[in-house]
Amino acid sequence: MKIIVIGGGASGLMAAILAKTPNNEVTIIENNSDIAKKILITGNGRCNYWHEDIDNSSYYTDNENHLKKILNNQSTVFNQLTSFGLVPKNKDGYYYPLSNQASSVRDMFKYQLIKKGINIINEVKVIDIKKEDATFIIKSEKETLECDKIIIATGSNAGLKEENNTIHNILKRLGHTINPILPSLTPLIVEGAKKYNWAGIRTEVELSLISDYKVIKEERGELQLTNEGISGIVTFNISGYASRELAKHNDVSVQINFLPDIKDVHTYLNERAKVMGNVSMNELLNSLLNYKLTGLLLHLSHIDGSIAYNDLKENQLKWLINNITSFECNILDTEDFSRAQVCTGGISLSEINPDTMESTIIPNMHIIGELLDVDGICGGYNLAFAFITGYLAGKCISCLE
Ligand SMILES: Cc1cc2nc3c(=O)[nH]c(=O)nc-3n(C[C@H](O)[C@H](O)[C@H](O)COP(=O)(O)OP(=O)(O)OC[C@H]3O[C@@H](n4cnc5c(N)ncnc54)[C@H](O)[C@@H]3O)c2cc1C
Repeated sequence: MKIIVIGGGASGLMAAILAKTPNNEVTIIENNSDIAKKILITGNGRCNYWHEDIDNSSYYTDNENHLKKILNNQSTVFNQLTSFGLVPKNKDGYYYPLSNQASSVRDMFKYQLIKKGINIINEVKVIDIKKEDATFIIKSEKETLECDKIIIATGSNAGLKEENNTIHNILKRLGHTINPILPSLTPLIVEGAKKYNWAGIRTEVELSLISDYKVIKEERGELQLTNEGISGIVTFNISGYASRELAKHNDVSVQINFLPDIKDVHTYLNERAKVMGNVSMNELLNSLLNYKLTGLLLHLSHIDGSIAYNDLKENQLKWLINNITSFECNILDTEDFSRAQVCTGGISLSEINPDTMESTIIPNMHIIGELLDVDGICGGYNLAFAFITGYLAGKCISCLE
């Protein structure tokens, strides 16, 4: 049997290796000059390829039941990666290769590809796929190839300078539903961010995403304030939700609690002032909040930092506490695909058999990885999904022999 895998990224490589048997000829067609280019930039070059707690709650998808079934295979796939030679290091639940180098994940795949005798065609972009009877005709810019089974693993536009929707358009023409594709795990653009002059501040917060007056998602973690808005993992993890709400033309904002560990800030400040004696606001807030942030919050609350806490008017204090615990800013947009780590949306998971990743619309076509409408939060969930789906597609094909 002839099998072609389009896309030599995380999911495609896994699928190709699993699909190869003595009777199966497997060829990977990859647009780039080498395979696994995206793997190299994951986890800041360290490749956070897995997480110890993988379940539906860390993903967004259009079919929760299918996702659950797919994720049920996680321990088999994790062990498969280890048996390929990937030595795992668990750091607070996040898995990296012990070498701390993403290149060792790519090289592990290269060793497997050579050992198994899998063909790789680099620098070839697939531009069309047709099915004539039982044969797939795959057209690239250079040649036309034929196969009996096809695995589509072309990923998403996330992290790319130039958008590439060729495969989405082909799959749409072949009858698949494409849910709106939007940037996720990306910074958010805040209205008037420049005037806050807050760039460079990093601080632990509780972040609530609000759309049309309803809290959509809450996250806790380190926030990075930038010239354009907000960034950092805590922002990335709500950004897919923000993308989808913005696409509906809803009013989207975030509420930031800059002191998430203090339940009642009013009582806390009162008690602190009592202990410290008659202190200025600058002194009272010193070491509680970042200096630059203290200046901004006092300024926005119309409070001079040199004023004594005991001399504050009630409404000034109320305003300040509100700014500290419920700082609200409007979200204008997400950053574009080039700044995103993944995309939300894609091929509907409802049109995929979750046991085999075979399309329910086009028999003998398997669709895997980020091309599907599944996106995870930061922490190794997206690579894990790519590996699991690649495994399922490849395993299904090799079991057919
Ligand atoms: C900066 C960054 C950091 C990230 N960090 C992490 C992390 O630490 N942990 C994590 O879990 N996830 C991370 N991700 C997400 C993760 O990299 C992806 O979810 C994962 O690589 C998706 O795998 P895939 O196989 O579906 O697609 P990809 O890995 O993107 O592979 C798709 C391949 O298909 C090829 N291709 C596309 N179109 C065609 C065509 N028409 N013809 C031929 N070839 C084609 C592409 O060149 C590409 O090589 C990160 C992403 C980015 C951008």
